[in-house]
Amino acid sequence: MLMTHTSEPILQGQRALVTGASSGIGATVAKMLAAAGAKVVVNYAGGADRAQAVVDHIQAAGGEALAIRANVHREDEVEAMFAQMFEAWDSIDILVNNAGLQKDAPLVEMSLADWQHVLDVNLTGQFLCSRAAAREFFHRGVVPELSRAAGKIICMSSVHDVIPWAGHANYAASKGGVSLLMKTMAQELAPHRIRVNAISPGAIKTPINSAAWMTPEAEAELLKLIPYRRIGDPEDIGRAVVWLASDASDYVTGATLYVDGGMTLYPGFEQGG
Ligand code: NDP
Repeated sequence: MLMTHTSEPILQGQRALVTGASSGIGATVAKMLAAAGAKVVVNYAGGADRAQAVVDHIQAAGGEALAIRANVHREDEVEAMFAQMFEAWDSIDILVNNAGLQKDAPLVEMSLADWQHVLDVNLTGQFLCSRAAAREFFHRGVVPELSRAAGKIICMSSVHDVIPWAGHANYAASKGGVSLLMKTMAQELAPHRIRVNAISPGAIKTPINSAAWMTPEAEAELLKLIPYRRIGDPEDIGRAVVWLASDASDYVTGATLYVDGGMTLYPGFEQGG
């Protein structure tokens, strides 16, 4: 467990909301925030049982958690989710915009519906949740006993906010959008002591990309793109989230942390150019 100099867990007493926390990276992030002392809202869209399993895990370890269903791209559902959280725990200190999905197709075959849905969930969802959190951070201000910042927003982006990805135009566009949404929010909210940062994972073993690592052949191909020669675990991302959520990163805002084993280092140039 990460501790402060007072031997308390580093996020003791803080209240976090993790979107898309019923699976993969979000589920691990929720558990690791709780292990660091935060109370955690486990948001989900369809996976009620999986969200409850995350809540049960946190509670069994002595933490506090609450599962709340909301589609992050639906304004009324997002507002209701924040209202339910404030009803339970009064406020919010940490938002992790993690919910995301892929609907892949070659450009010429991509339907408008699949283009729109990925943009809605991956980008508009981050806008709606960030707006709701920022309104509360403004209203409440800094609580020095909890944190030096009035609030922290962490946006889950992807290496595909800088690496183009054929066959995934909607996904890459959404993550490119997340990158400038994050920086613009960071610039706008910094004077209010709200920190906004992004994490851009490389290949992390979760259900979203299981086809890329399930078979030994697929895994070998994927490893060619990773100079560090291992596929990431959700815990690699969880540790970065806990750091960005804590006062250990208090002077960091507007940054994108690439947690990718070097995937963004042009691995094709490893053997010269
Ligand atoms: P998973 O598919 O394992 O989990 C996705 C989560 O998003 C689920 O909890 C799902 O909820 C939730 N979700 C989907 N649609 C909605 C919605 N409309 N409203 C609320 N929640 C929703 O994916 P990962 O854990 O792999 O991905 C998490 C994030 O990390 C995504 O933003 C993804 O783009 C990003 N990422 C992942 C990488 C990887 O290698 N895994 C690499 C780079 C970025 P439910 O199951 O309840 O429907």
